[in-house]
Amino acid sequence: MGDTLLLGSSETELQIAANVLRQGEIIGIPTETVYGLAANACDPSAVAKVFAAKGRPADNPLIVHLAFFEQAKKYTTRIPPLAYKLAERFCPGPLTMVLPKNDSIPMITSGGLDTVGIRIPSHPIMHRLLEIADIPIAAPSANTSGYPSPTSADHVMQDMDGKIYAVVDGGESQFGVESTVISFEDESRVRILRPGCVTKEMLLEVCEDVIIDPAILNELAPGQKAASPGMKYKHYSPRADIIMVESTAEEFQRYVGEHYSDGVYALIYTGDEEGFPYRHLTYGCDSSEQAHFLFARLRELDEIGAERVYVRAPSADGVGLAVYNRLIRAAGFEVIRI
Ligand code: AMP
Ligand code: MG
Repeated sequence: MGDTLLLGSSETELQIAANVLRQGEIIGIPTETVYGLAANACDPSAVAKVFAAKGRPADNPLIVHLAFFEQAKKYTTRIPPLAYKLAERFCPGPLTMVLPKNDSIPMITSGGLDTVGIRIPSHPIMHRLLEIADIPIAAPSANTSGYPSPTSADHVMQDMDGKIYAVVDGGESQFGVESTVISFEDESRVRILRPGCVTKEMLLEVCEDVIIDPAILNELAPGQKAASPGMKYKHYSPRADIIMVESTAEEFQRYVGEHYSDGVYALIYTGDEEGFPYRHLTYGCDSSEQAHFLFARLRELDEIGAERVYVRAPSADGVGLAVYNRLIRAAGFEVIRI
């Protein structure tokens, strides 16, 4: 055990967490998407500690969290009218909007970009912390860079014990995958840079058109520039080798049987386990459940010693696109289509 403090969510404990953040320390915090590794977004030396603790590449920008969308004015040079409409519908919640930043956000926070991703989290503990600390909080997922994101305080401890001052325990993350990240194409259209629980269909209730960035489902060609820097890294990946198999439940079972050996596990839909004869874990029966459980299951597979894991690919519709996007990266784009 390292010496990272585990805090609860009482007002006194949140006061401690807020003070520590204001003094330039970094802490793990719960949000409705995944756990974040929080730092004062305007303090370059605090933000540097986040990059160091995660082992995160310096060009991968951090999302800045605020208590209220109105505060975005303080950190940006222009907010399009469409952003206000989206904020009315989806904030607080799992939506990050990329906007042109001003000088109060240091370059280290934005990974050298002249834009900043702004999110208004709905998690009551995170919201209260933002209110008490009264600073913008930069918070990437609180995992070691490349490893699956944490959805519990325990996961954060697994990766960060001894490296950070404290973790605030707020129970399991509700959504389980990171926020939807969007940028603005023009006054009526947005581009999804990273899919999340605010889906294309939901965005279309407010926007005339929603473009899905090709990097969400396809590997970038060597030298190709990523609209969203996180897209170019292998990500979300446990130690075990992940292979996605796109097939029916029956074909999946046959495929696993043909490739079964020591260290092989399967990750299957809940409901398909009846009579499934091979070592396996389940990850939910629909897209929302699969989003909620995916990262916890990937971590469990490492704990139980899985070396190779065949995953029955999720649907890529609705929230499923977020699950599919995380898994295809965890698999290093290794997909078997039957
Ligand atoms: P994480 O904080 O681990 O959830 O990762 C945040 C991700 O959001 C990054 O990897 C980027 O892909 C995306 N992102 C954050 N800020 C920006 C930005 N200014 N422009 C484009 N993408 C961004
Ligand atoms: Mg992350």
